[in-house]
Amino acid sequence: MFEKKEIAKKSVNPDRWYTDVILKSELADYSPVRGCMIIRPYGYEIWENIQNYLDKKFKELGVKNAYFPTFIPMSFLQREKEHVEGFSPQLAVVTHGGGEKLSEPLAVRPTSETIMYDTYARWIQSWRDLPLLLNLWNNVVRWEKRTYLFLRTAEFLWQEGHTAHATFDDADTFARKILEIYTVFDEDVLATPVLVGKKSENEKFPGAAITYSLEALMPDGKAIQMGTSHHLGDNFAKAFKIKYLDKNGREQFVWQTSWAETTRVIGAIIMAHGDDQGLILPPNIAPIQAVFVPIKLNEKVLNYCQKISQELVKSGIRVHIDSREEKSVGWKFHEWELKGIPIRIEIGEKEMENDELTLVRRDTGEKVKSQKSKVKSDTERLLKEIQDNLFERMKKFRDENTHTVSSYEEFKKIMATQKGYIYAFWCEDPVCEAKIKEETKATTRILPLDAKEEKGECVYCKKPATHRWYFAQAY
Ligand SMILES: [Zn+2]
Repeated sequence: MFEKKEIAKKSVNPDRWYTDVILKSELADYSPVRGCMIIRPYGYEIWENIQNYLDKKFKELGVKNAYFPTFIPMSFLQREKEHVEGFSPQLAVVTHGGGEKLSEPLAVRPTSETIMYDTYARWIQSWRDLPLLLNLWNNVVRWEKRTYLFLRTAEFLWQEGHTAHATFDDADTFARKILEIYTVFDEDVLATPVLVGKKSENEKFPGAAITYSLEALMPDGKAIQMGTSHHLGDNFAKAFKIKYLDKNGREQFVWQTSWAETTRVIGAIIMAHGDDQGLILPPNIAPIQAVFVPIKLNEKVLNYCQKISQELVKSGIRVHIDSREEKSVGWKFHEWELKGIPIRIEIGEKEMENDELTLVRRDTGEKVKSQKSKVKSDTERLLKEIQDNLFERMKKFRDENTHTVSSYEEFKKIMATQKGYIYAFWCEDPVCEAKIKEETKATTRILPLDAKEEKGECVYCKKPATHRWYFAQAY
């Protein structure tokens, strides 16, 4: 007798649920090193699907992959003032190697700007060397005090793109192209609607001129960052002396971008879409999109499943046949629900004789009768419907939890109760931003890309303000 894997209810205890569901669906496990995380095969397959999607999109823009070392000389990090101030508190530093004290300590990369740009200064000489478009798929270490599986771990996986351009505008255009790729990725692949815009001076990446960010609202009313694209201006170019000779033979500094998507988004989709029964994975990212569960296990039924599954595989659907003899049908249903497989295909002996089968949607529980001749088109249609439904569900939730607010009293009340986004005028004075954060835990999230200038007064200090910003408590 196999016991069902019990998890806390999301509707009752979302924090416990989040951890339970990750551990029991076998996405990840705790590691012997505090704050670090073991990504298990099921979780890693999701990351591989993310990699495959993004890698293709980056390459379409002409970006090439490369690799730079894990270790960064401390002096490199210190060359850009804001950058080192931003990252110092989270650095892991190597002081010894091969049994000897190192002449210069090495930081374990928290991000690779400094080690890459030291090299860029050698590689870039002429306007012909631009643009330089590189991406790294690697791990980074940020020594976090409080950690949370996928969302905040001391070590995580990501891609970091680093480009150099001839002009400010070229860099800005590129940073925005990446932003578009991330927007489509978040919305169409992860089924998670995002707000897209600029970060405030205080919230931007240390060393950036402009930080563009994508933000999603989680069911607990807190926002989560779903990717960032930074216009670095010429800040690093000046610190690392990355110069080129333009067509007139004049020496110029380059303009740069850096951009990243991390394993954190896996945490976001777990939280965004799951329910009391476990994960619900968006079909476009699910390692298994349809799982066959034969109601009675015998050779005839298994052959039938094989035949149909081959049809589905041919049209690019990711399938699995659960042929385990030692587990009951009920146990299997429970297991695949917990793992969030979008469609369960049930096949009984009688159904097989009539060339029928049943498709069960994970998101709604709806049962759809299908036939052998129609299973391919029915599965494709349902996968699309599930993908769309997950997106629409989140979008509805976001819209219902976005509050346009003009009084600070109302602002405070919302942040103390249901949370969500607050859309309000802010004078862009960091003092007001800091006070709001101190009193409500809400931070500025973004100024929307398409924001229009308006006449208003700051929700906090009542001084004139020209734009409404989004505020929220954030992960
Ligand atoms: Zn103000």
